[in-house]
Amino acid sequence: MAETAPKVAAEERRESLAAVDREADALAKQIKKASTLSFSLVQASLHPLAKRYPARACFPPLIRSKPLALTLPKERIAELHGNSNREACKDCNKEYMRDFRAVSTYKNGIHDHRTGRKCARCGGTLVDSIINFGENLPKRDLDLAYQHAELADLCLVLGSSVTITPACITPACTIPTIVGERKGAKLAVCNLQKTPVDGITDYRIFTETDILMAKLMEKLDLPIPPFILRRRLIVKVETQEEDRRKVEVTGVDSDVTPVTFLQSVRLEGSRRIARAEPYIIHVRDAVKTGAEMKFDLEFMGHYNEPNLELVHSYNGNEEVLYLLEYNPETGEWTIERQETPERVVECIVLDP
Ligand SMILES: [Zn+2]
Repeated sequence: MAETAPKVAAEERRESLAAVDREADALAKQIKKASTLSFSLVQASLHPLAKRYPARACFPPLIRSKPLALTLPKERIAELHGNSNREACKDCNKEYMRDFRAVSTYKNGIHDHRTGRKCARCGGTLVDSIINFGENLPKRDLDLAYQHAELADLCLVLGSSVTITPACITPACTIPTIVGERKGAKLAVCNLQKTPVDGITDYRIFTETDILMAKLMEKLDLPIPPFILRRRLIVKVETQEEDRRKVEVTGVDSDVTPVTFLQSVRLEGSRRIARAEPYIIHVRDAVKTGAEMKFDLEFMGHYNEPNLELVHSYNGNEEVLYLLEYNPETGEWTIERQETPERVVECIVLDP
């Protein structure tokens, strides 16, 4: 897709805030009338904090959502060109969202998508989700995108030059064009540069996406929810010999598959800092029931999240799930302890 991008950046234009305000008002009225709504996002966010927290600005190129709900359920998202934070197992298709760039080095060619990691569930090879030049777009996502384009009352293009294939093969086959040319449907484009579909837009707004969306949400009487970073962590303590404990700290996702978001783990009183997965610390001294084990957790830091001190109350051999929430606006973590993590039970089918 890189070959389709312009070699020189196009000239940017910014309208006055008063003009953007008028356009946001008209757009809000249109959204209130729409029964379905489609978003086309490339480098945009629905949240003004995206500029300060750029790791969040990783949105799929085309999304359709219920009007006004502005939520992003996965089954309604069509990620046409992949996601640099997502990798998946070649064998069992388990997906992993990473708090780092999970893209192949392509040292064996642009079609070698192996990331070098293995699946925590089955040991299979993990591959990135990026679509490189000459590779087919994912059928499910492409079909979904066209289906959305046929159904949407309004297509809102945010922060896109609309020059990436398939959008630029011919203007007639662009996804925004399908909406823009359909009778009764409306096309709105918010982008600083001109786009090939400008001639068929009903709303053409030259401003930053965050400025338009903040105004739009205000006109719709919808509060912009604060972004909260949510992490799940399991602390497991095992007795190995008398008075010797093995402590393991693991980041997990909602189905308890291990997820990488920590850089290091330190246990107070232990000299060793665990800097690689699995984060294992051996404790030689006796640990009494009820004793506090204090962990210093170091995160990747993409959200400027500071280290967190997690105090684990030891109640014997156990696994405890902690829900960690970080609010970038306040800079504070909250911790919720849950006694028993729910394990995903793999089904084993025996021959009849
Ligand atoms: Zn797997």
